[in-house]
Amino acid sequence: SYRKGGYHAVRIGDSFAGGRYIAQKKLGWGQFSTVWLAYDNQSSEYVALKIQKSAPQFAEAALHEIEVLSAIATGDPSKMNYVVRLVDHFKHAGPNGQHLCMVLEFLGDSLLRLIKYNRYKGLELNKVREICKCILTALDYLHGKLGLIHSDLKPENILLNSTINPSKDPIRSGLTPILERPEGNPNGGVTINNIEKKLKQRARRAVARISERRVSMGGVGAVPKPARCLDGIDMRCKVVDFGNACWVDSPIAEEIQTRQYRAPEVILQVGYSFPADMWSFACTAFELATGEMMFTPKGGQGFSEDEDHLALMMELLGKMPRKIATSGARSKDYFDRYGDLKRIRRLKYWSLDRLLVDKYKFSDTDAREFADFLCPILDFDPEKRPTAQQCLQHPWLNMDNQTHEEVNSESSVGKMNVGMSNLKIQLRN
Ligand code: ADP
Ligand code: MG
Repeated sequence: SYRKGGYHAVRIGDSFAGGRYIAQKKLGWGQFSTVWLAYDNQSSEYVALKIQKSAPQFAEAALHEIEVLSAIATGDPSKMNYVVRLVDHFKHAGPNGQHLCMVLEFLGDSLLRLIKYNRYKGLELNKVREICKCILTALDYLHGKLGLIHSDLKPENILLNSTINPSKDPIRSGLTPILERPEGNPNGGVTINNIEKKLKQRARRAVARISERRVSMGGVGAVPKPARCLDGIDMRCKVVDFGNACWVDSPIAEEIQTRQYRAPEVILQVGYSFPADMWSFACTAFELATGEMMFTPKGGQGFSEDEDHLALMMELLGKMPRKIATSGARSKDYFDRYGDLKRIRRLKYWSLDRLLVDKYKFSDTDAREFADFLCPILDFDPEKRPTAQQCLQHPWLNMDNQTHEEVNSESSVGKMNVGMSNLKIQLRN
């Protein structure tokens, strides 16, 4: 992908926008871009630099994202605690072409990484609540105020406010900015690898220092690392990645969203709007609480991934109303005229609250309350789903269960011993 029209190759110390931003290290990448930690000489802060591939279709997508991010930043400044802030944008000419670059505020790990750190066993419910409030506040702003559908909400696209933000606290974080290309230093003999290694070491030491009391670092070799204890970490997060976002009155694509977070109306092509984001939100909340995706559809012999997905939805949420099932442009591919799936005839129903108790070892009360929060958002009829603003009023978000921690630590062992027989059968062949 590092060729004409593709990614721009970046080296540590490279400068952008006439010397204003200096690349420090790679933070991540997506289909269209690479994202770098950069030092902003003007503000003396760290930023995230998203460098788009150069081919025209990527440039166009970046222009759209910049337009969306600008609208977000100017709509209501008080809501910028919940969505990523665009700081600047510019063009950068490189050997592979002209690259549009977005300068974003620097954020921390994604919720997907948080779930991984926690060894896929789900976060404590009080933390899930805090995260849900942030996401819902962001969605209420995007939907209610701006008329914007995110279209790709998922744990990967929600980033924690960095707990160690070097720009806010460079001394404690142990990071000092690199201001020029290391190999340009005649006395140095420093290679990029060395610098990267040093940066990593420094960052690691900084993490260890700051979170000594709350982060257990885990064992060596074959001994699995214990889950990191997340006590005391402020669960504030922001929604990022507006590359697929669209205005409600001019939807771009027919198919939106990442597979596992895709709403039924999108699969059936009934037409979609804000409620499609609400569906993805519910899938994300479930994943935070259990450590596992709510739906992981797979195609099989005689049925497609889409049909499996619809079957999994109905097994968990009950039969789809015939009116909805038969009303989409793709309905005939999956449903007969009675609203039954054509190729998957036997469904094994397992309600959400039972699943939470049986498979994920929630207490009855926790399961009932959490299911009571999620189920309305998973209504097959998008028009019946509550809005983000309505969800924010739900009592589940404002309760605090102290007992959950004991229950959780006790059951984490039990959870690991759940045999295959107890697991929902997700494979049909
Ligand atoms: P894409 O549209 O290509 O998926 P994203 O905007 O999702 O690009 O960014 C790709 C990855 O880069 C993210 O998953 C994340 O790891 C990292 N990233 C993006 N924005 C930031 C940011 N503001 N701060 C820190 N890391 C970021
Ligand atoms: Mg992304």
